Amino acid sequence: MTDIDYGQVTGLVHSTESFGSVDGPGVRFIIFLQGCKMRCQYCHNPDTWAMESNKAKERTVDDVLAEALRFKGFWGKKGGITVSGGEALLQIDFLIALFTKAQELGIHCTLDTCALPFRNNPDYLVKFDRLMAVTDLVLLDIKEINNKQHKKVTGQSNQTILDCAKYLSDIGKPVWIRHVLVPGLTDIDEDLLELGKFVKTLKNVDKFEILPYHTMGEFKWREMGVPYPLEGVKPPTAERVKNAKNLMETESYQDYLKRVKA
Ligand code: SF4
Repeated sequence: MTDIDYGQVTGLVHSTESFGSVDGPGVRFIIFLQGCKMRCQYCHNPDTWAMESNKAKERTVDDVLAEALRFKGFWGKKGGITVSGGEALLQIDFLIALFTKAQELGIHCTLDTCALPFRNNPDYLVKFDRLMAVTDLVLLDIKEINNKQHKKVTGQSNQTILDCAKYLSDIGKPVWIRHVLVPGLTDIDEDLLELGKFVKTLKNVDKFEILPYHTMGEFKWREMGVPYPLEGVKPPTAERVKNAKNLMETESYQDYLKRVKA
């Protein structure tokens, strides 16, 4: 892409959010890209699944950045932009162009991904490395460590996702690992223990978050005429969230951070 004007590279953008406060540090401008091949039972953005949608807009990097910059005054020292989805990695050329231009402007760039498209092979890594060179932080969702359960939850294997987690550790890219806790689905004690063990093999984890399941996206399934698989499932209790944290942090997380960063 060296001869390409990055500002004119286009991506299929589902929507934007001006004041995100949970998808990365500080206040952030969030860009949701269209398209995802996972089918998470708890997805709160099912309207981003389709690879094409007449509700999404083909937008240039310059256009998206111009919108983002209107909110720069609110970002403070920590904030910036986060690209989410859908699955942002499906539009890797757009990400490379957007983050390259954003970093030239001193903007902190975060990628929020489930990493299903990741491939640990030389051809793919050429582009992925180019993207990582202009990415400050990766938010990586690990939906389930147990592959059989992962397939049940998302319809896909977790192999490439775990490969991506290991690769990011190898290259020392800062990540936040996130796990959505859904009663009866991703709240299985043995799997939480295994997830905790896996995360502690990584050397680049700045944060490890449990995100309690919520039902705010349920209405979108209804609007799309798709049966909601988690009908009647309630958010986890505070006790179950605490249980998950305890299981995953058999060693205190602060001690773990000190150990890997020593
Ligand atoms: S990866 Fe994200 S956008 Fe895709 S189905 Fe899962 S929750 Fe939804």
